[in-house]
Amino acid sequence: MENMTENNHELHCLECGALLTYGRPDRKFCSPQCKNRWHNRKSRQWHYRQARILSILERNHTILDHLLRMGVKTMEKPFLAQLGYRFEYVTSYRKVRNRNEFRCFDIQYVDTPSRLTGIALVPSGEDGFDPEGV
Ligand SMILES: [Zn+2]
Repeated sequence: MENMTENNHELHCLECGALLTYGRPDRKFCSPQCKNRWHNRKSRQWHYRQARILSILERNHTILDHLLRMGVKTMEKPFLAQLGYRFEYVTSYRKVRNRNEFRCFDIQYVDTPSRLTGIALVPSGEDGFDPEGV
C-alpha cells in the first residue's frame, strides 16, 4: 500500500501507519526511524526480487543445457512451458539478420512464435566464453 487513505485529508506513516498530523502535505513518515525501516525493507525486497529472477534464469538455463546435451537445437514452446521455461526471462537480446536472438547466460537461441530454435552455446570468443576449452 502506497500511502493509501480512505479520505484525502488523512495521511499515514508508510511504515507504521501512524496518522501524520503535521508537516508538509507530501510527508510520508512519522519519524526518521520509520523512514529508515521502510527503506531497509524496500532494499530487502529488491534483493529478494533479484534472487527470484536469478532462480528463474537458472531454471531456464538448466532446461536449455539439458536440451543441448541431448543434441536438441529446436524445441516447441508448449513443451518448454510444461518444463517450467519462462520465455520472458533472458539475459540478453539482439536482432541478428531479422532474427530475434536471445541469450540465457552462455546459451543462445532464436525465439519464434511457436518454438525456440538454433539453441547453441554462445560461440567461443564472444563474452569471453570458451565452451570447448581450446
Ligand atoms: Zn511511523
